[in-house]
Amino acid sequence: MLKIVKYPAAILKKRAKEVQEITPELLDLLKKMESAMEKNKGVGLAAPQINVSKQIFLIKDNRKNQAFLNPKIEKLSKKQEIDEEGCLSLPGLFLPIKRAESIRLSCNAKDGKPLLIEASGLAARIFQHEIDHLYGKLIIDRITPIAKWKIKKELAEIKKTGRVKAK
Ligand SMILES: [Zn+2]
Repeated sequence: MLKIVKYPAAILKKRAKEVQEITPELLDLLKKMESAMEKNKGVGLAAPQINVSKQIFLIKDNRKNQAFLNPKIEKLSKKQEIDEEGCLSLPGLFLPIKRAESIRLSCNAKDGKPLLIEASGLAARIFQHEIDHLYGKLIIDRITPIAKWKIKKELAEIKKTGRVKAK
């Protein structure tokens, strides 16, 4: 079983590399990511979170989990919304994060086919969160310095014990 990489691992701050071809190894990696996401009850998972610096992420869908490669944001709505987000790499931490209400992105499907995706609401939020991971950004990089200062105890706790204890 793949282990989820947690804050403050350096790979989480790195920009991930584009996927150049679909190989059996890649498909195998997607399967492993899927079971890691399921096991950890995530709604999304990006490859850097399993220690692979490649532009791959999964999103949990009602019907089936979907894999996306090499995403490029084409458009973010001006309208933004604030909602609480968590991250498997920051277990137990939940922060209000401002995101665009809708998103349009281009990417490749797991068979390499180009896709154009439009999403809004919660789905748009998850896409933005996972794409952030591919650019080395975490939710703690999306808050103000004061907000970050306020959670320094929680961050120290994750560093030390691997998670924030439920209060
Ligand atoms: Zn995350």
